[in-house]
Amino acid sequence: MSTSAELIEVSERRSAHNYHPLPVVIHEAHGAWVVDVEGKRYLDCLSGYSSLNFGHGNPKIIEAAQEQLKNLTLTSRAFYHDQFARFCAGLGDLTGKDMILPMNTGAEAVETAIKVARKWGYEVKGVAPEQANIIVMEDNFHGRTTTIISFSTDPDAHDGFGPYTPGFKIVRYGSAEAIREAVDDNTVAVLVEPIQGEAGVLVPPDGYLTEVRRICTENNVLMIADEIQSGLGRTGRTFACDHENVMPDMYILGKALGGGVVPVSAVAADEDVLGVIKPGQHGSTFGGNPLACAVGIAVIDILNTGEFQARAARLGEVLHARLRELIGKGVVAVRGRGLWAGVDIDPALGTGREVSKALMARGVLAKDTHGSTIRLAPPIVISEEDLVWAVDQLAAVLESL
Ligand SMILES: *Cc1c(COP(=O)(O)O)cnc(C)c1O
Repeated sequence: MSTSAELIEVSERRSAHNYHPLPVVIHEAHGAWVVDVEGKRYLDCLSGYSSLNFGHGNPKIIEAAQEQLKNLTLTSRAFYHDQFARFCAGLGDLTGKDMILPMNTGAEAVETAIKVARKWGYEVKGVAPEQANIIVMEDNFHGRTTTIISFSTDPDAHDGFGPYTPGFKIVRYGSAEAIREAVDDNTVAVLVEPIQGEAGVLVPPDGYLTEVRRICTENNVLMIADEIQSGLGRTGRTFACDHENVMPDMYILGKALGGGVVPVSAVAADEDVLGVIKPGQHGSTFGGNPLACAVGIAVIDILNTGEFQARAARLGEVLHARLRELIGKGVVAVRGRGLWAGVDIDPALGTGREVSKALMARGVLAKDTHGSTIRLAPPIVISEEDLVWAVDQLAAVLESL
């Protein structure tokens, strides 16, 4: 079992079919490039859905992980360990928040934010027991747990998994007015992606986040920003909310926080919010473990230099300028911010998956989202030359279809 074909055959036969991967079997990766088992090189334009913002095998992150592996990997939260304080203080400073609640996966951090918001609603806002509601957006993506898919509007994610968790109101994304109309006395939070990644890199209208912030403040409702995919440098700022100078009450972080090495997620909030959680009320065996914290500290150190944010902003200009040149040449629309783009392909030319396959044949790994939309989010370490080459490959693919 060593060729791509053999490995794919066994993978398909022996694993659940909850994914439909492109037919490439990756063996190693450095920076923005991956190599398959036959030695063919591909430019990674997905970055593990923005988990690899700082590149495959980022030397600072790998070194931090290797150092930590030698000393201590797990204690459980029954004890303190020496990486925990620096991680929480560092992430607290980066987010401008008092406190951190570390978890592992993004979905767990979203679940954490939902629990915190409800408890805050009952204990601080004074909502009657069991009556709290949270306003969420159409076409959201917040993860795959039963509570989270309860308020998904994607039939694949949602249908067939009931009974569903109640307590959510779904409104149109990008409309502050829709939120204003949905808020009632029992609303404890508005949960929003500052840019909807899975939905196709949908950027809301200018001023939307500012307006969401205002509505939340006026109604004593928590603004929760799911920055799992949009945060940590991808859009050219540390957080996508920074583009409107908006400070949510809770940040939900994940993906790139683990440096592409281990799953690390967290909720960041001030004490008047996160302080509602007392011992025994929430937890995770692996959340905040020493290896995760050491990697997280390396990620925070990288972000504190501002280098990656500036690079994503600069390369993002190049990416978007190049992509805009393809409008009318097979591309219908381009959206995004920083080094992150959703590219709508003319459906007459083929599905997003067909385009992704054709890109793969030309050495570029990208992923379709819905229908005919391709998402491009290469590691921020990518060179300008490689980035331009990737867009050239897309142009060539579109020409050939
Ligand atoms: C990926 C993602 C999640 C879920 O993270 P997992 O680590 O896959 O559980 C939640 N919200 C957003 C915006 C995401 O992009």
